[in-house]
Amino acid sequence: MVPYDLYRLLQCPTCASRNLIVTDGGVTCAACGAEYPRCDGYLDFMPRGVKFAYVSKYVSEEEELARELDYRDLAPPLLAAGVRNRALQRLLDLRPTDVVLDSGCGNGKFAAWNADRVRLMIGVDPATLFADEAVKSVALIQGDARRLPFADGTFDKAFSIDVLEHFPRDVIDAYLCETARVLRPGGRFLVFSNTREPSRLQPLVEASRWLGRQFVRAGVYDFEREARRKSDHIKALKTWEDVLDAMQRAGLRPVRVVFWNSVATSFVEHVLMKLGEAIIGRSRKEKARSNGAAPADASAPVSEGAAREIRARQRMRAHLRRRGLVYYALLAVTLFMELDLWLFGRLRSGSYFIVVEKPVVRDR
Ligand SMILES: [Zn+2]
Repeated sequence: MVPYDLYRLLQCPTCASRNLIVTDGGVTCAACGAEYPRCDGYLDFMPRGVKFAYVSKYVSEEEELARELDYRDLAPPLLAAGVRNRALQRLLDLRPTDVVLDSGCGNGKFAAWNADRVRLMIGVDPATLFADEAVKSVALIQGDARRLPFADGTFDKAFSIDVLEHFPRDVIDAYLCETARVLRPGGRFLVFSNTREPSRLQPLVEASRWLGRQFVRAGVYDFEREARRKSDHIKALKTWEDVLDAMQRAGLRPVRVVFWNSVATSFVEHVLMKLGEAIIGRSRKEKARSNGAAPADASAPVSEGAAREIRARQRMRAHLRRRGLVYYALLAVTLFMELDLWLFGRLRSGSYFIVVEKPVVRDR
């Protein structure tokens, strides 16, 4: 959506002027003449005439990913996404007066899940693969996180989930500095990402992976789609020291840290869920066959494994929206996964939540 409140916060990402004119078709910058059209449910505020060396895969392969990612339809926040979302709510302490930025919002699921908790939720992403629910409840902007189209000090809170691991170091620095610029002094920013550091509990994680691999061997599950989703993970911040260093360079002060050693989580993801998805996906395929119909994905440009997983997810979402037994079972599994944060949250590992604050008086 493009609410009226959004316009007051904007500044030109091309020339940094705040002298913007709202027109029938969108917004025009009175200083540099750049035009930013209003599209279907969002504003296109990409900086004009700027060539960045790094372009996200989600932008360069947007069309292809649009078919593959199954991004339009949101399930309730459950499982790994549910753990992230619950941590986000707890660590960032969202309030009804907050203006909040989700920088690199993807399809906007985390923004949509929390939009009704705050005054204004704004999602920014260079790709426009937004979920229907996000289009309804989140102020959406197609923009570049290195040149955010907002005035200094606009936001009370900001968050970044599964973003930093995609960027090379110079982009991370630009991203963090730009986020710091648009936060108000005292404003807080939550990042969830991962370094290359192994967890000390890694043997337990590996045990689940091993079990999962046995399913792949038996043809029960296809990891191809999973691998593709993670194919542009660079993890330029290799260690925890790198993370702290990057935050410090952006002038952001660490307030809280919770590590995610995925012991319970990897058991759920690699064993329980994969088995569940395979069973649900298969039973559907068999049903289609016994009806004499060809599998629905016969001509689809995605592999059979990916199609099976998408099918399983669609079926699952239909169940979940009814909030029946399946929903509560998965909520229980989500809370089980969250045990990782409560039990091992202080034990250093690759995956981390960090809350940083923009100091009221900048350190020199
Ligand atoms: Zn301008």
